Amino acid sequence: MKAVIMGAGIAGITNAYYLAKEGFDVTVVDRQDAPAMETSFANAGMIAPGHSFTWNSPSAPMKLLKSLFGAKGSLKLKLSTDPRFYAWGLQFLQNCSAEKAKEKTLVKLSLCQYSQKATRDLAAEAGLDYDYLGNGILYLYREPQNLEAGVAHMKMMRDQGLKIDVLDREGCARVEPALGLVKDRIAGAIHCPDDESGDCAKFTTGLAEVLKRMGVTFKFGTTVEGIEVSGDQVTGVVTDKGKVTGDLYILSLGSYSQLVAKNLDIKLPVYPVKGYSLTLPIDGRNNAPNTPTVDEENLVAVTRLGDRMRMTATAEFSGYDNSRRPSDFDHMIAAARDLYPESCNFAKPEYWSCLRPMTPDGPPVLGRGKQKNMYLNTGHGHMGWTMACGTGRITTDIILGRKTEIDATGMLVDRFN
Ligand SMILES: Cc1cc2nc3c(=O)[nH]c(=O)nc-3n(C[C@H](O)[C@H](O)[C@H](O)COP(=O)(O)OP(=O)(O)OC[C@H]3O[C@@H](n4cnc5c(N)ncnc54)[C@H](O)[C@@H]3O)c2cc1C
Repeated sequence: MKAVIMGAGIAGITNAYYLAKEGFDVTVVDRQDAPAMETSFANAGMIAPGHSFTWNSPSAPMKLLKSLFGAKGSLKLKLSTDPRFYAWGLQFLQNCSAEKAKEKTLVKLSLCQYSQKATRDLAAEAGLDYDYLGNGILYLYREPQNLEAGVAHMKMMRDQGLKIDVLDREGCARVEPALGLVKDRIAGAIHCPDDESGDCAKFTTGLAEVLKRMGVTFKFGTTVEGIEVSGDQVTGVVTDKGKVTGDLYILSLGSYSQLVAKNLDIKLPVYPVKGYSLTLPIDGRNNAPNTPTVDEENLVAVTRLGDRMRMTATAEFSGYDNSRRPSDFDHMIAAARDLYPESCNFAKPEYWSCLRPMTPDGPPVLGRGKQKNMYLNTGHGHMGWTMACGTGRITTDIILGRKTEIDATGMLVDRFN
């Protein structure tokens, strides 16, 4: 059986691995010249079930409204003429009740926990080095009342078995000695000891090399322009280099999935939300943290990846505009520098921005489309590095007609159709 996977990000490449292991003849098509060159290139590196909350919540509509009027910080909303933006936004608002937010968060949590184990297993099997750290993640608060609210918010995940330690500022400095320098500025943190981190791009690139040895074909520098359908079958992927055909097709084009899915007769509300990421060399400094940290009040993530520090922030609704200016990074640099002033060489920034493929309710979009041989594995949003091995396994199980190892009902494309 020949499988054609559109997209060589973390979602497409992990799916290729699981299918190749099952004996499929796999071809991966991507417009870039190498894997993980778009959203999977420079994310925060957190493999974080503790970060599974959906962005939907009863307070989200007001936050979005404020951001429209220029509130400074990590959320930016620009009005658009794109009807897809409004359709997506309406569905987002419909999922903002406390009940819906909890339901979808628990779907994501279950996937993240399943996927975390799959990621460890795959890395061990394939022998991948990806600057892994297993020190948990600190979800850090500067104000005591916000820490208290954060602990209350985490209850739903704790009830599902997620391990959580609540730390005061001394406890934070014990877990992450680099915080000892600034402990007076923080109230405390929620430490999820089982959360992890690693370099998603290094993992994806390393896995692609393994796939080449397994016989997977890569068509890089090849742009997908559309998907050809005849009756209840997909008959080929139309690219700028000609048609690519197979027995079955998987769509993993991240934020661009919706754009090529026009012929598929499905609603696929995956919309781009821009994020910014900064990579800085440690250059031999002794106070680089070894525990990834989310500054919950500034919504800035800080992670050590080998001899570099990665900082990420911002959710910007500006359509497919992926531009960046140095001033877009001011907020994250200020927050990260305040916590870890001696962690890295702030004079040598590498700037990056990319588009999170967000669904309006949080979980990704998996399962079979309207055509018998068309599958979706996209819409991983802000958690694709954490979720991808899990979604690759679930997609492979669905293709093979096997029962999935976790309940995938809340992740299926059917929920939008
Ligand atoms: C700032 C930021 C921080 C993040 N931090 C984390 C984190 O800490 N932990 C976590 O779990 N997740 C994180 N994420 C989310 C994660 O990075 C994404 O969910 C994930 O990378 C999505 O992977 P993907 O394979 O679906 O998309 P992509 O990596 O974008 O892959 C899609 C591929 O499709 C290709 N493509 C697109 N259109 C076409 C076309 N027409 N023809 C051919 N090829 C095409 C692209 O070249 C690309 O290679 C973060 C995201 C951002 C933006």
